[in-house]
Amino acid sequence: MTLTRVLRPQGSGRYVLFCDHASNHIPSELKDLGLPAPELERHIAWDIGAAGVTEALSEILDAPAVLSGVSRLVIDCNRQLNCHDLIPEASDGTVIPGNVGLTETERASRIARWFHSYHDAVEAVLADRESRGIPTVAISVHSMTACLGGGSPRPWQISLSSGLDRTMTDPTLAALRRPGDVVVGDNEPYDMDPAVDYSTPFHALRRELQYLQVEFRQDEIADVEGQVRWARRFAEALG
Ligand SMILES: [Zn+2]
Repeated sequence: MTLTRVLRPQGSGRYVLFCDHASNHIPSELKDLGLPAPELERHIAWDIGAAGVTEALSEILDAPAVLSGVSRLVIDCNRQLNCHDLIPEASDGTVIPGNVGLTETERASRIARWFHSYHDAVEAVLADRESRGIPTVAISVHSMTACLGGGSPRPWQISLSSGLDRTMTDPTLAALRRPGDVVVGDNEPYDMDPAVDYSTPFHALRRELQYLQVEFRQDEIADVEGQVRWARRFAEALG
């Protein structure tokens, strides 16, 4: 059974949204990965607020949206399969007991059940649009913690991670910055790296789709009001 959520698969807008870290759900058989409940509310388990922003954007843009249904601690749906933190043994100072010393069978099972099922759902939406001749811009929605590992607070309220193709990123950055009231990151704190990131390279670069990868800072989208406000702001910047 897949836990992936698909919203508006027949949405008529030009955008398709995917949210790799939408959920902090741990399937019951994994017994919370040996973590106390408060750890599962932290940013290490999910992109706090990102699902709400994705849902609001889907509505505003009439865009299909695919949301992962398991925690990034179960498997990180935005990591290449050969990355060491695909199934992290530790994250931001917390050891993940249920991920230490997995067998190859256990790893393969997580990949099949929760990584491929999610990406197959994104693939199905994109392939359907392609077969109907609908042009698509892929948008990967993430959120970032306001402060990582006790480091300095992050000034950026919203950031775009471009990789090499800046076709969509440059005009969107300009539109976000134009009113002058928010701090916008350009490949800060993260660039999009095809050797590490999975979703944008696999779904957008491979299909030669235009794309955006966006990070909203989590303190800005902690509640529904903030999620809707930022979804509107981002949708306006898309023009
Ligand atoms: Zn993320």
